[in-house]
Amino acid sequence: MVEQLTFYSVPVPQRREEMEKELMLYEGDHVELHWSDQVHRCTVYGSKEICTKCGTALIAIDPPWGTWKYVCVKHSALTVPHRELEAAMNSLPPTAIGVVSSVSVMFKKVIKKERR
Ligand SMILES: [Zn+2]
Repeated sequence: MVEQLTFYSVPVPQRREEMEKELMLYEGDHVELHWSDQVHRCTVYGSKEICTKCGTALIAIDPPWGTWKYVCVKHSALTVPHRELEAAMNSLPPTAIGVVSSVSVMFKKVIKKERR
């Protein structure tokens, strides 16, 4: 069996202006989230929800990716806000042993080419 590896192009900005364009997220920016061979395109918005893992303010995605509605940019993952995870943990079905609270994804900001 041949193992397939996927490589992504990682933005390596050369100048400060490029860094701001490629790495800074603003309300209404378009991003691609990559997980395995799947891609989800969405728009990002700020939120007041907090990441359970690192305490960073989460970014809301529209449309949601399945049931995932937030991403944490600090640990690059789809995740569940702290209070929603607490609620899920407090209402686990009797035979459940835990709740998956985050899935690592790769971010790619979609930059529109300027027309001339
Ligand atoms: Zn986090």
